[in-house]
Amino acid sequence: MKITFVGTSHGLPQKDRYCSCYMIEAGDGIYFVDAGTSFSDAMRDYHKDSMKLKAVFTTHPHSDHTGGIVSGISTLAWRKPELIFQIWFTSQAMIDAYKRYLSATFYCPNGENPTPSVEFCLANSGEIYRDENISVTYFPTQHLDTTGDPAYGMVIKELGGDNASVLFSGDLSYKLRSNDYPQEAYNPHDLFVCEMAHFYPKHIEEYYAKSKVKGLAITHLHPVVEKVPLINDMATRLPYPVKVVADGDVVEIKNREAKWL
Ligand SMILES: [Zn+2]
Ligand SMILES: [Zn+2]
Repeated sequence: MKITFVGTSHGLPQKDRYCSCYMIEAGDGIYFVDAGTSFSDAMRDYHKDSMKLKAVFTTHPHSDHTGGIVSGISTLAWRKPELIFQIWFTSQAMIDAYKRYLSATFYCPNGENPTPSVEFCLANSGEIYRDENISVTYFPTQHLDTTGDPAYGMVIKELGGDNASVLFSGDLSYKLRSNDYPQEAYNPHDLFVCEMAHFYPKHIEEYYAKSKVKGLAITHLHPVVEKVPLINDMATRLPYPVKVVADGDVVEIKNREAKWL
């Protein structure tokens, strides 16, 4: 399994950083976790065959995690109608909105999805997706507890191949409530991709220290300049390698080992 960090910024894109978007290659498929920037542009930029796209998994509706879906859908659904792929949303409101959006852009006034090549799916806790390449299991986070909306992290496992296993935290709660740390981190995943926009290393270090993951990639940082030295300091006390990722970073997980390319 290979992960390209397409977007590693927080709620706003910054110089050299798009909003959250992670491209995963496994077997003959391409998948995305969040699309804060256009997933079709990402496949173009990184010279990937967009006909391999199978699914986009979103963690929650905030636009820094979903804003790139608009252009991604439009480009592919219009220009490549023979490509069939899924987009997993966390609320029916998002599915309805995107159906209306497609309907408007394709001049289809009856509100029906005019592009059957895009399948909208509603995510929930548990295993939501499985094909010949990967399985995807969602777990709830407290990121949107103040509004009562669901938000999720996920585990993506490679099926066959190297059986790589990667944990994505999704956005977590402000100052990280103690019971919002992903319990999955206590299992031996090959990499933990953790978003750190809403809390500091001091809020999470004790949980990282007890975790069984084999490596940590920190993304969705805010403010970057202030947090990077704090993360580097914390890293000296953790029992596994820690990397603050930037746009364009690529990690390959082979033989259950994460190698940064
Ligand atoms: Zn966010
Ligand atoms: Zn958010």
